[in-house]
Amino acid sequence: MSVKITVLGAGQEVGRAAILVEDSNENAVLLDYGVTFDESDIPVLPLGVKPCKLRAIAVTHAHLDHVGAVPMLFVSTRRPVVMTELTKELSKMMIEDMMKLAGYYLPFEHQELEKMLECTKEVSIGSELWLDGIRMELINAGHIPGSVMIRLDMKNRTILYTGDVNTIDTRLVRGASLSGVEANVLIIESTYGNVDHPDRKRVEDKFIETVKEIIEEGGTALIPAFALGRSQEILALFAERMPYADVYYDGMARRIMDLMLAHPRYINRIDLLKKAAQLFTPVQGTGMRKKILKEKGAVIVSPAGMLKGGPSLYYLKRLWKDRKSAVFLVSYQAPSTPGRRLLSEGVIEDGMSRIGARVYWFDFSSHAGASGLMRLIKEVKGLEKVIIVHGNDATAYELAYKVKEELGVDVFVPKNGESVEV
Ligand SMILES: [Zn+2]
Ligand SMILES: [Zn+2]
Repeated sequence: MSVKITVLGAGQEVGRAAILVEDSNENAVLLDYGVTFDESDIPVLPLGVKPCKLRAIAVTHAHLDHVGAVPMLFVSTRRPVVMTELTKELSKMMIEDMMKLAGYYLPFEHQELEKMLECTKEVSIGSELWLDGIRMELINAGHIPGSVMIRLDMKNRTILYTGDVNTIDTRLVRGASLSGVEANVLIIESTYGNVDHPDRKRVEDKFIETVKEIIEEGGTALIPAFALGRSQEILALFAERMPYADVYYDGMARRIMDLMLAHPRYINRIDLLKKAAQLFTPVQGTGMRKKILKEKGAVIVSPAGMLKGGPSLYYLKRLWKDRKSAVFLVSYQAPSTPGRRLLSEGVIEDGMSRIGARVYWFDFSSHAGASGLMRLIKEVKGLEKVIIVHGNDATAYELAYKVKEELGVDVFVPKNGESVEV
């Protein structure tokens, strides 16, 4: 009896992760169900699935490209959802925020989100559960607090799905490891399947040194960062290396900080996050923003990470011509985002003058690079097949080529809608 894996999203693309695993008796489990956003910021959904056939839905973490479409499955039915407690709390916040900005385009409302939360079984990292004869185990993914990989036993086949994964220790989470884990099939992300990140310690040293230079000259250091994960990582880094600095944090990064502090067991260096909360100042309202901009030597950490909106865009526009100040991009900059355009052209919109403030980019990725991914793949025991998702053409295929060369196992890079029999 075989198991069929169908990619409903994240097939040869980064975003809207959605993987359907089903056996010949029509028992089905859905791993993640996320959204992606098009150039006009309209949510793009994964391919459809009949919710009534799902035995369970398992969610790896609270980024919208993994959880954003899950409430859609609750329009006409109720199914059990498995995730960590922190992922549940964070997902609620992230989905509510998306509904505020793009509710018109979404095929669900608050009621469906409520149903999803009611049906959620909170499972802690490292533990396992049985649902309708299907065994599930959650393994630390090292990506953001609360994130997990999912190991599934179905019809004598063991399937391991990484979600988004990182192998290095950060202040927020400990790196992932698969040593000693057995699986016949590995479904792995490949966001950075063809490159290695520079050494994290060196990136941090250079970043801290550059921020110091800017504030010592009386400029403002603006750090646009994703609200979930990157903002708190940067704040914890400042708490450790620049506790004396005037650091402010704004937007949804504030509420997420509070949530993380309320769930200390998910945080690697909770001491540093607590210290950041004690030393640094959350920003409340526009009046305070104006005051901060007049201050000399302020450091501001704020979403949106790709400058698509939020307070980071507000600050950027006001610091635009200030040659003493600098913008530090610390997150992935997707094509056709203002952040990417700022890096390549020095503008964020047509017809504007080039930025006068300095612009830097630092690689603080929370995804494993090519070597980290290869290490994880090699650690898995009994591996027969590898399915590569959550990467673009270049990253997914280069990783596929390497796996095939070095391990000789079957490798697949399915498109959305394609299935692999395992
Ligand atoms: Zn993620
Ligand atoms: Zn992702």
